[in-house]
Amino acid sequence: MPPFFQPVIDRIAADIATAPGRGRPADYIPALAEADPQRFGMAVAELDGTVYGVGDWQQPFSAQSITKVFTLALVLSLEGETLWEHVGREPSGNPFNSLVQLEYEHGIPRNPFINAGALVVTDRLHRLTGNASGALQEFLRAESSNPLLDFDERVTASETAHGDRNAALAHFIASYGNITTPVPELLHQYFRQCAAEASCADLARAAGFLARHGIRADGSVLLSRSKAKQVNAVMLTCGTYDAAGDFAYRVGLPGKSGVGGGIIAVVPGRCSLCVWSPGLDERGNSVAGVAALDRFTTLTGLSVF
Ligand code: GLN
Repeated sequence: MPPFFQPVIDRIAADIATAPGRGRPADYIPALAEADPQRFGMAVAELDGTVYGVGDWQQPFSAQSITKVFTLALVLSLEGETLWEHVGREPSGNPFNSLVQLEYEHGIPRNPFINAGALVVTDRLHRLTGNASGALQEFLRAESSNPLLDFDERVTASETAHGDRNAALAHFIASYGNITTPVPELLHQYFRQCAAEASCADLARAAGFLARHGIRADGSVLLSRSKAKQVNAVMLTCGTYDAAGDFAYRVGLPGKSGVGGGIIAVVPGRCSLCVWSPGLDERGNSVAGVAALDRFTTLTGLSVF
């Protein structure tokens, strides 16, 4: 097949370069505040792992909440439906780090992609594997074909030093018995997870199992077709927090953002994508990243709708 995607993403990069407004890098994690909002990269991975890229597509950045997709997939593969007794799958309509729903919903977070839900997922992964961040690293290295993929311990330390809100979430959930790993250990695992450094090429490839209906890069089954559909559905409805409605409207794909400025997106049965630009909007999603994915689905007609 001719490289259908390359001219499309080249055109998007040219459009983005002249688009006004880039947002601002996350500053509540000091190590992320230094990122340059003018950086932009985009990669598209075919089902066989062939990657097309443009701009800063090979530049590693802080994956942050994008990792929540991978920990969710690992826990679903290991323990299946039991997970849904501990975390919901409804959009929260609240910011990603909000505490407000947790009390009246008895310590069961709305979904696995807000911080509260991700802490529960990481707790379960840690109990299932004995080393949640290690399991994530092994998975990301294998799926991205990048054996050097690693955590940025400087980001882990920065987030640990400014992690009061996540600590509050974890202690509060633990008070309901919905987290059982000791909170300091859980936070260490979670902050390391968020500090995974990966490029657009790495993350587009790593998300490939969701485009292949649950099949890993080596051909083995991580998730059944039905479970892969479930993960994609939760990404569509909850992956960009309280902007998930607007993201579905503009992009029309399952997607997951992170405050490092990355967003992964999936066209089931066709390809997986990752865009990166560190400037965020007020909901914590990359401004240029959402714009680029919006252009991608408009130009190609590839969407789940
Ligand atoms: N590490 C970040 C946090 O816990 C992840 C948030 C995000 O990427 N939306 O605050």
